[in-house]
Amino acid sequence: MNHPNEKAVTPPGVPSWVNGGAHASTSLRTGEVTNPATGRVVRRVTFADAGDIDAAVKAAGAALPGWGSAPPLRRARVMQKFLALMQAHQKELAQLASEEHGKTLPDALGSVQRGIEVIEFACGIPHLLKGEHSGNAGTGVDCHTLRQPVGVCAGITPFNFPAMVPLWMFPVSIACGNTFILKPSEKVPSTSMRMAELFRQAGLPDGVFNVVHGDKEAVDAILNHPGIHAVSFVGSTPIAKYIYETCARNGKRVQALGGAKNHAVVLPDADLEFTADALIGAAYGSAGERCMAISAVVAVGAIGDPLVDMLARKAAKIKVGPGDAEGVEMGPLVTLAHRDKVQGYINIGVAEGAKLVLDGRDKKIAGYENGFFLGTTLFDQVKPGMKIYKDEIFGPVLVVLRADTLEEAIALVNANPYGNGTAIFPNSGGAARRFEEEVQVGMVGVNVPIPVPMAFYSFGGWKASLFGDLHMHGMEGVKFYTRTKAVTTRWPHEDTPAAGLNMPTLG
Ligand code: NAD
Repeated sequence: MNHPNEKAVTPPGVPSWVNGGAHASTSLRTGEVTNPATGRVVRRVTFADAGDIDAAVKAAGAALPGWGSAPPLRRARVMQKFLALMQAHQKELAQLASEEHGKTLPDALGSVQRGIEVIEFACGIPHLLKGEHSGNAGTGVDCHTLRQPVGVCAGITPFNFPAMVPLWMFPVSIACGNTFILKPSEKVPSTSMRMAELFRQAGLPDGVFNVVHGDKEAVDAILNHPGIHAVSFVGSTPIAKYIYETCARNGKRVQALGGAKNHAVVLPDADLEFTADALIGAAYGSAGERCMAISAVVAVGAIGDPLVDMLARKAAKIKVGPGDAEGVEMGPLVTLAHRDKVQGYINIGVAEGAKLVLDGRDKKIAGYENGFFLGTTLFDQVKPGMKIYKDEIFGPVLVVLRADTLEEAIALVNANPYGNGTAIFPNSGGAARRFEEEVQVGMVGVNVPIPVPMAFYSFGGWKASLFGDLHMHGMEGVKFYTRTKAVTTRWPHEDTPAAGLNMPTLG
């Protein structure tokens, strides 16, 4: 949707990237990429079909023997050059992410930085590819293990972190000796394309990293292609479940991270101002479009009323506007459809009887009347049965529930089907320790509202937030992208017992 006064200009196309360059597709299906602040179509992305996916798999398959057998140190040296280029182009990547997603530039810079940290981790992967060795495991018998690449891997990623989420996957996979096909969200295709160019500039052989664009058609072609051995997915829960089930049926290794409803439990002794500041950033940063955003606060006991008052005052002051403007703290939502969906949830919350403390509906920004904006929204007195609590809204809408005790708060968090992140705000250690032990969630913060693990730890939730058993990056990422092979060795000499027909036992 372009501004009525603007001249119609054909937006540039975004092709797929296969075998080290732009891929000429015969697919006629395309999608619009919008700038959420202006509502303008800025690019048109070509949607890959099964033929395009097959071309990417052929390129990745052809590159695999050379890349997979290269010394890990040689692969790590390419990573180091990629790391330097990514650092040099961090601002440009953040601008692309901000332009297509809508998040503010400082926030986009931070998310690119968190992605770059995974490349830093991947530079040291030769150390983690070492196997185990037992000399003389039996008389004259040695055992050792090799950690080898899985093969051609694919990654399917969501719109909300155009650089960081793909970077959770492909540097680890490629440093482990795999080749990779990335299918980023069709809403934010350009950051991945720029990363592919930079990786090639770093000396990555053609075909090792490929980027294909598209929607369900491209995803289904990936899931059903016999030449793809492992699939990593990050996105919403229904799609994560579909990816997991389809890959399992097709015999592929799979990890599928889903959606979230992240709770912050605030205890009566919490530092009010410190806690409110932390919650404001975690709820409204990136317009609430973070899988680790705090979207539900459980206020325990008497802190409820003063906490809601302070949250409302602070949330009302947040400056909303285009992500690239100086001083703006919260940008628009990613698409018009998504803005309308989130606004619809505010209507639902009112109809359900929750107390609307701050209403962000019908937010207008002067000069950006076609942008997909919504103001900060706060609900109090929300009950567990309400839709605004049960559903992942994925926008700047924070809901507050009340509990009388820590036990009640933990039970509430544990009864929720999601289990991505959670945080507790206490001033005493005992309650935090108990929370950490008992809560059924994959990532826990103590006075840290968004406890995203560093690259050398692993990222992943529990329950409906993750289908599969291994989390992303860190050692779990290395395990996902490698297969172990156990080798047992002996050499004949005069006292080697002759092989017989019975099951051999060592010792
Ligand atoms: P989404 O599930 O709509 O899309 C994710 C990917 O799946 C995209 O590449 C998309 O093209 C593809 N896809 C969409 N519909 C499909 C279908 N029917 N069949 C096959 N593929 C399909 O998610 P989104 O809206 O892009 O991102 C937001 C969601 O991602 C939220 O639920 C958020 O919580 C989640 N998320 C989770 C994490 C995590 O670490 N758990 C991180 C970031 C985002």
